[in-house]
Amino acid sequence: MIYIYIYIYILSGGSNLLINDQKEFENVIYMKDVDRNLKQIKDDLFYVGCSLKIQEVINGINELNYGGIEELYSLPALFGGIIYMNAGIGGKTTSSFTISDFIVRVKVLNKETKKIEWIKKEDCQFSHRKSMFHNDKYIILGAECKFKKQDIKKSKEIIQERLKFCKEKQEIGHGAFGTCFSTADSRLLKIVSKLKHKKGNIRFSSKNNNWFVNDGNGTFKDTMFLINKCIKLHKLFRKKIECEVKIWD
Ligand SMILES: Cc1cc2nc3c(=O)[nH]c(=O)nc-3n(C[C@H](O)[C@H](O)[C@H](O)COP(=O)(O)OP(=O)(O)OC[C@H]3O[C@@H](n4cnc5c(N)ncnc54)[C@H](O)[C@@H]3O)c2cc1C
Repeated sequence: MIYIYIYIYILSGGSNLLINDQKEFENVIYMKDVDRNLKQIKDDLFYVGCSLKIQEVINGINELNYGGIEELYSLPALFGGIIYMNAGIGGKTTSSFTISDFIVRVKVLNKETKKIEWIKKEDCQFSHRKSMFHNDKYIILGAECKFKKQDIKKSKEIIQERLKFCKEKQEIGHGAFGTCFSTADSRLLKIVSKLKHKKGNIRFSSKNNNWFVNDGNGTFKDTMFLINKCIKLHKLFRKKIECEVKIWD
């Protein structure tokens, strides 16, 4: 028997993806309508479908006076992508929370066995912007989560504060994929941003050297050029660097 291996790309909000604009990707599953359920199972225990926008999840639980994840309101992401990336607030050492703090177990489709499984949080290998789902063996369908009891008024205040913070600290209204490197030396990123600030219509953000901004019609190639400059300088100084953005090439 001959097996043909077909790699399946999974697309949720697309907010953490850098995709080669010169290539076509045939096997892509867009997760937008796969599971849009949000159910309160009992007290603080909820089931959250992978296809919900994070804002829909936050609004839904806030209305029932639960919360804890309001600061994720600014992410243009779906819940499945949030779990995969273990999205959170703050850096590696300054993190105030990640979604894994709220997860009990994750519902997945095993791509190999084609069976639905539940994976306990302890087995998900969550770490800074990582999870075992990076092995790409699973499609995340949803998760059971425990949220904090929280007055809706307080939740709304946290959301407003977060949006204000993002307006001040992030370049809103431009193409971006958030933080580019999950591990990098901030001094070296600063040096590259000074030496080579821009390639085509892609540039380092004026507010954060770990963000690239697309001023319009910026290309994959130009973004990779700047990313590779950062990687090369880190290699030269033997410093650790790791991409957070997922690259489809
Ligand atoms: C303006 C802006 C602000 C941001 N701020 C933050 C921040 O504060 N904190 C933070 O952590 N991140 C931030 N990000 C990055 C991004 O929003 C997160 O990484 C988010 O978790 C990605 O979710 P997504 O739905 O967009 O996933 P996508 O970008 O669509 O996918 C990301 C990866 O997950 C995989 N994937 C997605 N869904 C599934 C699924 N259901 N099953 C299996 N694999 C899947 C994809 O194949 C891909 O490899 C920001 C991005 C932007 C553009």
